[in-house]
Amino acid sequence: MHKNSVIEINSIAHKENIAFLRNVFGEKTIISSVVKGNAYGHGLKEFVEMAFANGVTHFSVFDVEEAKIVFDTLEDKVTILIMGFVADDDLEWVIKNQIEFFVFERYRLAKTSKIAKKLKQKAIVHIEVETGMNRTGFELRTVSRVAKYLIKEKENIYFKGLCTHYAGAESIANYFRVSKQIEVFKKAEAIFKSEGIQPKIRHSACSAASIAFPETRMDLVRIGIIQYGFWPSQEILVSYLNSKKNKIDPLQRVISWKSEVMSIKRVKSGEFIGYGTSYIARDNMKIATIPLGYSHGYCRSLSNQGKVLINGQYCDVIGTVNMNMLTVNITEINNVKKGDEVVLIGNQKSLSLSVASFSDLSNMLNYELLSRISKTIPRKILK
Ligand SMILES: *Cc1c(COP(=O)(O)O)cnc(C)c1O
Repeated sequence: MHKNSVIEINSIAHKENIAFLRNVFGEKTIISSVVKGNAYGHGLKEFVEMAFANGVTHFSVFDVEEAKIVFDTLEDKVTILIMGFVADDDLEWVIKNQIEFFVFERYRLAKTSKIAKKLKQKAIVHIEVETGMNRTGFELRTVSRVAKYLIKEKENIYFKGLCTHYAGAESIANYFRVSKQIEVFKKAEAIFKSEGIQPKIRHSACSAASIAFPETRMDLVRIGIIQYGFWPSQEILVSYLNSKKNKIDPLQRVISWKSEVMSIKRVKSGEFIGYGTSYIARDNMKIATIPLGYSHGYCRSLSNQGKVLINGQYCDVIGTVNMNMLTVNITEINNVKKGDEVVLIGNQKSLSLSVASFSDLSNMLNYELLSRISKTIPRKILK
């Protein structure tokens, strides 16, 4: 475990985010908490324990490794859905433990059926259809064959879900593409119906789609970024607020990331700071080093871009982010001492630093920065 920083997870903030979402979606829509990427960096084991205490009983993960962590933590008290990778030799574990999973190709469908038959236990599958993202999913033209196969194999396969995923619902620039995807999904639904087999539930929405395209909510929403208290993009926040009288952001950030000042020094005007020549001191400066770098998940793309909070004030990251260290400008900040708290994400005095405000390079930066935060930094749940 690293001692260079600590991640705090605010249980009350999460509980309130979930309450907000339940209110938006209504009681009938299941909220699946998406916890891939180490629960977006929050710490998978710690996060699902806390989310369960906050009333969440459905979790979506990317692969078997993550599914096993959720299963070891919460056993059969919750539903676990694998949206991505299952290696052939893990299928047996998955089926035996009634873990649900996406099936998006003929090969996996056949393999699933064979193993379920051998185990004498039905596999619980969600059929993913390709609607236009062009990543994974059965093509529309193959759907009727899939339906026939599911009917034939109904002793071995439980057709629990029909699903898809949208290619960028967080941006209005993709409006037309996403709308077309919704149409294709409806066609796939109709084909199953006409073949005489229907899923128990249908789902398609991620955070952005669930807000911007309400018709995509269906029976279950797969909610990642919003439950952690971040909007998928500014556009989604604006589209939500547009429909409201009070223009108050209802989300609360769950994570905080705190470190400390490791060392302080003065640099003369005209000197370069850090590797190479990316930053030159234009005046005499005072700088502080922080014992965190890209190996701990502080993205290198935040070189000369990021901000931190020290003594309740914003400080710029200067020079390149190193493997284990970064440097910040504290010239204007009085009385900084070695050991002082440094906030990378979170509040300090009256100011707050959410991940997005590190940089406007890309709204995808939130997802990337969060999921990269090193697993070996301790996570502490605040109740
Ligand atoms: C990551 C993911 C989600 C959740 O996305 P958010 O934007 O974080 O809500 C939903 N569905 C699939 C298939 C995903 O991969």
